[in-house]
Amino acid sequence: MIRLIKPDICWEEVRHDFQDVFTSGVFTRGNNVDYFSRDLSSYLGVKHIFLSTSATTALSMCLKLLHIGPGDEVLVADFSFPATANVVEDLGAKTVLLDVDPNSFNLCPNELQKKITNKTKAVIFVDTFGNPTGLHKVKEICSSHNVPLIEDAACAIGSSENGIRCGAIADLTCFSFHPRKIICTGEGGAIATNNDDWANWLRVKLAHGADGMIDGQLNFVDYGYNYRLPELSAIMGIKQLKRLHDIVAERNNIRNLYNEALIPMGFIPQHIGSNVLSNIQSLVYKVPTNVKRNSLIESLKKIGIETTIGTYSQSNQYYYKEKYNLQLPVATHLAGNLITFPCYAGLEVKKVIDGLKLAIQYE
Ligand SMILES: *Cc1c(COP(=O)(O)O)cnc(C)c1O
Repeated sequence: MIRLIKPDICWEEVRHDFQDVFTSGVFTRGNNVDYFSRDLSSYLGVKHIFLSTSATTALSMCLKLLHIGPGDEVLVADFSFPATANVVEDLGAKTVLLDVDPNSFNLCPNELQKKITNKTKAVIFVDTFGNPTGLHKVKEICSSHNVPLIEDAACAIGSSENGIRCGAIADLTCFSFHPRKIICTGEGGAIATNNDDWANWLRVKLAHGADGMIDGQLNFVDYGYNYRLPELSAIMGIKQLKRLHDIVAERNNIRNLYNEALIPMGFIPQHIGSNVLSNIQSLVYKVPTNVKRNSLIESLKKIGIETTIGTYSQSNQYYYKEKYNLQLPVATHLAGNLITFPCYAGLEVKKVIDGLKLAIQYE
């Protein structure tokens, strides 16, 4: 079986540092967490990094820090893994799902212009499959309306637009280190921001509401949370971050190989802006018009090639359909017609392409 994903981390790379953790017994709040935060902040070019247990907890903290709740509206790109909208619903605010661009698959600036109002308390842009195309345009619209922009960059560590890395563009950026993403720490995530006031709030709230120590005791000034990333996870993050440049370059090479073979077959790649570096978190194509996506995934599985859909139209999922009953044609079309191919170092691309040519014949 050619697997869809393979995290780019091996035991040899971490065993020495893991051993140190087991020897010292410091499994949380140790040096590795500090090093990983510091390395991420210098890599991204952003002042503050807060590590977390996932992108979902990171996104949720961002909405909480903006005091989003009942009566507020948050505009959210519809074409995404439903964690993006779920965090808004969780706080009792109204999720306004917006259709996406048919080529980049990202939040459509025209839709945003139409739906942004004085009820809008935040906008969540999603770097679909790691691609930040259009992010600066969306940032410009948000800034002109004085609305904070949260970037769901769960997929986008290592990507950039106009030479600026995801993490240093939006007001708040959330990353994921789930095994499906480019850096894998088991579970994990991070928030990036340049805003000092928000950083102070996050520092306290993410430490159970404690603002440092007084006389050897924690000084609880607020209620708070524990969404901390453990030491072992931080070690995994540090190792992969050092190699992130190479990981992204390799994935782009693999994409080029696929493009050469797949475009002539009628597969349409995701549009990536000329000023954009995408990390190719997922390598996704629109299937040719005469091909049925689900049946192609099944045929490929039968010959030992694992593929999957692109992602979801959130507005078409049961909860959102029942509550908001929206029809968003582009996201709906993409949800039904995209396919994700294996993409990682060491993959035999030719095997996948030969298999695909075979599978297509029987479609
Ligand atoms: C994976 C993903 C998430 C969730 O990330 P977790 O770290 O698993 O919480 C959220 N948004 C998008 C766009 C994702 O791809």
